[in-house]
Amino acid sequence: MSDAPSTLPEAVVRDLRRALRGALLLPDDPAYARTRRVWNAAIDRRPAAIAVCADAEDVAHALRVTSDHGLPVTVRGGGHNVAGRAVADGVLMVDLAGLRGVSVNPAVAVASVQGGALWHDVDVATARHGLATTGGLVSSTGVGGFTLGGGTGWLMRRHGLAIDNLVAANVVLADGRLVRCDADEHADLFWGLRGGAGGFGAVTSFDFRLHPLRQVLAGVVIRPPAEAATAIRLFGDFAADAPDAFCGMLVLAHAPPLPFLDAAWHGRPVVITALCWAGDLAAGERAIEPLRAFGAPLADHVGPMPYLQWQHLQDGGAPLGRCQYWKTASFAGLTDALVGRLADAATALPTPQSELHLQHLGGAVGRGPPDQTSFAQRQTAFFVNMIGVTPWPEELPALRERTRAMYRRLASEPLPRQLPNFCDGDDGDAALVVGDAIGERLAALRRRYDPSARFAVR
Ligand SMILES: Cc1cc2nc3c(=O)[nH]c(=O)nc-3n(C[C@H](O)[C@H](O)[C@H](O)COP(=O)(O)OP(=O)(O)OC[C@H]3O[C@@H](n4cnc5c(N)ncnc54)[C@H](O)[C@@H]3O)c2cc1C
Repeated sequence: MSDAPSTLPEAVVRDLRRALRGALLLPDDPAYARTRRVWNAAIDRRPAAIAVCADAEDVAHALRVTSDHGLPVTVRGGGHNVAGRAVADGVLMVDLAGLRGVSVNPAVAVASVQGGALWHDVDVATARHGLATTGGLVSSTGVGGFTLGGGTGWLMRRHGLAIDNLVAANVVLADGRLVRCDADEHADLFWGLRGGAGGFGAVTSFDFRLHPLRQVLAGVVIRPPAEAATAIRLFGDFAADAPDAFCGMLVLAHAPPLPFLDAAWHGRPVVITALCWAGDLAAGERAIEPLRAFGAPLADHVGPMPYLQWQHLQDGGAPLGRCQYWKTASFAGLTDALVGRLADAATALPTPQSELHLQHLGGAVGRGPPDQTSFAQRQTAFFVNMIGVTPWPEELPALRERTRAMYRRLASEPLPRQLPNFCDGDDGDAALVVGDAIGERLAALRRRYDPSARFAVR
């Protein structure tokens, strides 16, 4: 399908081109068709134009021009958001894909990360110094959206969420002004950036605190669905008292063709316990034993490996270009009823490509000071992500219905808030929806920093 002409007024195109060092892609540009796409192939939107920024000055220029002309914008980081919040029809997209630089200062253990970087960029750069910070489970996830929504990852129980390691950020505001914020300077903006799911400006760089880390004890234990209830209960009990070095995730999926799994199980429903221990390896071996030593696992593939390797091992399971529809729910604990419903889901996933992820918070996340960030879920014990996936666009309406049905079955007693990073388009603005004190403070902050609601398309 050929793309329609841009709806951006000619004067805006002219003003943008006047100083942009990157590229301005209009719909008839050959690069426009692929640049407008995001990770979720179900999102099929056509921005009026795409400003592919080369640096922070480009971002400031693009926002100054849209401000002068009174136009809304979207900001694209890694493009991973399942709701496609980086792209909207008929609106200028400010694409940060040219800002992927990472510079590490090992002397103070801080990484300065540009706003369009992916976790791959950060993990590779920091690993060279034997350092790491909490990043996403899939290395192609953008640092930008991930961090603005809180940022959960394997290291969070030991070192906190991504926002707990954020020490400063440079932000281009809606009117094109570049400001630096940290605990002292623009402290209100810094509070909002840490968990409020964005909408205040385009972050051109994030400074993250780093921690010494080279090896982790990590891997997967795969079980038949008959062991689902036991595996879920054990995971829940273990997670409730686990040391901070431990972070795990229980996955219900159809088995991928893993070389260490008997081929007879490939493509059949299985229960996968993914484990990561970021601490003393011998202590980890002893600590995680209860999660491995029961029933009759189909495969137990756990061992020491570089953290960098573990950070990339899940990439194959989350390829670009499939249609996705997600639901997410948070829980204060795993009741018997919830364990039973989760176990039933092991053999009732919406499609063979779909997965259900049961994850836990706790540890350093729970201890994080509640009022210093806009992340509203410090006390959530568990969250469940229902990852509906189909390769076929025509199957999308049915996928949505089946995933919603699964959500209704599972989430009869969820906490009122959902983690913004995993919300889909029909969940609304997760950071605000609840209307509690944090939501109200965020809404007021957005009005302050973006009074004309330029970033309203989120
Ligand atoms: C395969 C996969 C794995 C994931 N794993 C995790 C995980 O382990 N933990 C977790 O917490 N989340 C995870 N997520 C969710 C992810 O964090 C969110 O989808 C997040 O929004 C992605 O950020 P992005 O920059 O890639 O997305 P984009 O789609 O580019 O942006 C998402 C939102 O953030 C805004 N944004 C992005 N960058 C900037 C910036 N620099 N300045 C201002 N606004 C910006 C955009 O405008 C948009 O509103 C995962 C998602 C996927 C698809």
